[in-house]
Amino acid sequence: MNPQLELLLKIQSIEMRIAGYEDEKKKLPVRKQLSEIIADVNSMQDMYSRTESVVAKMEQNCNELKKLYEQCLKKYDSVQKKFEAVSDDTPTEEIEQMLSGIASVRHSAEKKNAELAKIKQQLEKASKMATEIGKNINQRKQVYDKLKPEYDKLVAEIDEKINNEKISAKEIEKDVDEGLLKRYKSAESKLNRPPLFELRGSSCRGCNMAISNVVKKKVASEVFVECENCGALLYIAD
Ligand SMILES: [Zn+2]
Repeated sequence: MNPQLELLLKIQSIEMRIAGYEDEKKKLPVRKQLSEIIADVNSMQDMYSRTESVVAKMEQNCNELKKLYEQCLKKYDSVQKKFEAVSDDTPTEEIEQMLSGIASVRHSAEKKNAELAKIKQQLEKASKMATEIGKNINQRKQVYDKLKPEYDKLVAEIDEKINNEKISAKEIEKDVDEGLLKRYKSAESKLNRPPLFELRGSSCRGCNMAISNVVKKKVASEVFVECENCGALLYIAD
């Protein structure tokens, strides 16, 4: 086999190993766990802020109700006082009117108070929920913080292997003819994968199209020949 071709094939197999390592990094189970945690935390944070805004709104309602309730109480006080100060010669009709007024003020005060109690209960529930979500978020974050160094370590180990492979590829590249290397690199970036394909039969394995007779003739005498269709580099093994 042409020694230049041999070197290029070595470079190609190194690059394939590097691609394998990159794939390994993407498939690390810890990576999946970490991204699941990130997604969890994001959705919980979403829920948390929604619950928080519900709580804030309830608090506002609560305050408004409190004010209304206090207003009712004040009014109740004043009608009560008025009633106590009523003179003996007040007509019965007027007294009855006052009494019914007192009853109605008292009724609306009680109603407001009941509403207030209900909203306070809901508020408590929502606050508890927010706290619970907050706790869950923290727990998940703790798991993340525990796993992250493990992930970083695994990635660093793989990156070291990748680096070593890159160094040996660079070493080999020094012995490759500049023109050939340039063609190899440009075919590689065009195809976005290892560009060298052994030609068996009469179709390019890069694109599965039949190659022309001209290319077929050339490939026998050159280091490699570019496929007219896809730009893959075709060679014949001895
Ligand atoms: Zn092709």
